Amino acid sequence: MKKNDTVITTITCVSSIFIINIIILLFLHNRDLSTGVAILLENSLVIFGLLLITMFVAESIRLKKMKGAISYYNDFSNSVLQHAENGLAVLDETNNFEFVSGRFKEQLGLNDVSLVGCNALEYLPKSIYRFLMEYRLIPHSETTEPVRQTLQLQESFFEVSAFGVVDKENHTKCILTIYDHTKQVLMEQQLVDQLEEMQFHIEAKESLLANVSHELKTPLNAIIGLSQILEQTRLSDRQKELVSKINTSSDYLLNLINDVLDFSKLKKGAISLESSHFRLRDLLTDLETTFRPVASQKGLHLLTDYKFDPDLCLNLDRLRMEQVMVNLINNACKFTDAGYVRIRVSVLKEFQDTITIKTSIEDTGIGIEPENLSGIFTEFYQAEGHLTKMHQGAGLGLPICKYLVEHMGGTLWAESKKGMGSTFCFTLTAPKYYSSEEEVEPPAPVLRGHGEKILVVEDTPINYDVVEDLLIRVNLTCEHADSGLSALKMCESAGDGYYSAILMDIHMPIMDGYETARKIKEMGITAPIIALTATNMDEEIQMRYQHLFCDFILKPFKYTQLYNVLSPCVAATAADSPDELSEDPYAGKDTAIENLGGSIALYEKHLTRFKTNYAHACETLEDHLTSGQREQARILAHSIKGLAGTLGLTYLARSAEALESAIDNGEENLSPQITAFRHKLRQVTDQ
Ligand code: ADP
Repeated sequence: MKKNDTVITTITCVSSIFIINIIILLFLHNRDLSTGVAILLENSLVIFGLLLITMFVAESIRLKKMKGAISYYNDFSNSVLQHAENGLAVLDETNNFEFVSGRFKEQLGLNDVSLVGCNALEYLPKSIYRFLMEYRLIPHSETTEPVRQTLQLQESFFEVSAFGVVDKENHTKCILTIYDHTKQVLMEQQLVDQLEEMQFHIEAKESLLANVSHELKTPLNAIIGLSQILEQTRLSDRQKELVSKINTSSDYLLNLINDVLDFSKLKKGAISLESSHFRLRDLLTDLETTFRPVASQKGLHLLTDYKFDPDLCLNLDRLRMEQVMVNLINNACKFTDAGYVRIRVSVLKEFQDTITIKTSIEDTGIGIEPENLSGIFTEFYQAEGHLTKMHQGAGLGLPICKYLVEHMGGTLWAESKKGMGSTFCFTLTAPKYYSSEEEVEPPAPVLRGHGEKILVVEDTPINYDVVEDLLIRVNLTCEHADSGLSALKMCESAGDGYYSAILMDIHMPIMDGYETARKIKEMGITAPIIALTATNMDEEIQMRYQHLFCDFILKPFKYTQLYNVLSPCVAATAADSPDELSEDPYAGKDTAIENLGGSIALYEKHLTRFKTNYAHACETLEDHLTSGQREQARILAHSIKGLAGTLGLTYLARSAEALESAIDNGEENLSPQITAFRHKLRQVTDQ
């Protein structure tokens, strides 16, 4: 290139110097213009010739240059097309190959075949040919957008695309490209498989968690229920102590199960908050009431330092705030052997309708090593090694607290020094108002039935026993269905209006509580159905099934909870009726002993005999009634009334009397009186 340029430049310079010399000579030696013109004319042929040669040489050099460039770019683009990642072929209107790149042949395993001029039908794999035919572009006046598809050829996956190009002569060419992306597809597939496997494990973990917690809660329900019943009976001091230990342990176990469930929920981000108005002072008083005995049992002082207006009310999720504080105070008591636990609450900031409060729980306990301090908010982390561990716990409390506080928009942190105690602090901002009016919680209604029938659908006998006992105490009659199917049968034969309410366990073999409830509704039974479940039901699930269940009771439940839910279902709820649970079956014992000449031994002897002889009196009485021997039944009720009166069994005597007079009056429906009688009799004979 440079050489050609030099030649043209040289020729141009020579011609120019020649002309310039003539002009200089002309001016130096002879200033005659006509002579100059003559000289120029004389030499014009030479000059013209020189110029022609120069132009010719320049043109041929330019052409050569262009040819060179064209061939260079042809070679270059050919090599690019041949080696490009995507295989490329150009097909004419009759589907004959006009151009085929090396990659195209290589990807289809056609390396040794010369495809140009051949028809695509002969060589393309069927699926690609079908794709080509489907998308073959009928003559277009301009280039078309590519159409793409992923096709599988044996073990490989190809992305095939086709688009049309119209050439100068108005022929439509089809440009077919193929790209082997087997590796990516396999990788994607692998990822999808791994994801599915992970999903499977997550679901398995969740269902295991739900099942295990259900399985744990079911027996725990029985333990808590039975110990509640036991607590209400006459117990020696030692027995009371043992029952209280059962209660503490089952509370601990229940908290642990709830922590595990909470934790799995927070992992799914499924914990929802329910704000309500509450007086901060009330919450703190409740906490003090709970923890004062715990602290004093360990010889600790429970101190408080509150710096806020006692009328301050917050709008926050009270239960969750309480859960956080319970956890922190519990830890403080647990990890402190001497000294104090102090609860401090102060106002950090007040702005318009909101307030920011800071709560700290300070203890003089074992403290935490600096290297452990950052880890304690990590799930399952415990500063003590698990082998040398001296305190109960699963290491879930603090992560849950941190999550809850942050979920409520606050911050939780800890300050501690080994051996110097710890302080756990959190801040929360909430809407506030001040009210001096005491917000007294409405008293829990005391349930007192009139023998209304409650169907209890429960497959675990011991759980049924607990519910039955609780219902009989408040004068309700219990009928037991041990499966969904038998519940359906019982409802069918009893008809609508027979049961006042149905308590339905959810987890039952063969037919679960949902299906049973649905079928009962379909049958036209209008009795309210209450779900009894050991599985945590979040709000969403409760909403989904609210057409089946009027309420949900989570096992293990307190008897007051059961009564609260049942009270709208039974005819009479008297807020001022005596609390049956606290009623003493031996209310008249002292008078009875007095009447027996003050001899306790004699009293005990008669009482034992009474218990032995009349343990099954209720069943006998019912047998008399079913066999039509009403008089026999009346006599039995009458005898028990007398004996019970003599032994100071006041309530039993009263219920026997009610039963006797109902029989006497010829009443048909005696079940309310029998239920009450059975319960009072059991109170005596079961002890
Ligand atoms: P755990 O149920 O084991 O107590 P937490 O998550 O509540 O679980 O606490 C995690 C760990 O943090 C505890 O095991 C303990 O080592 C440490 N810790 C928590 N609170 C205190 C405290 N007040 N004093 C000393 N150590 C504490």
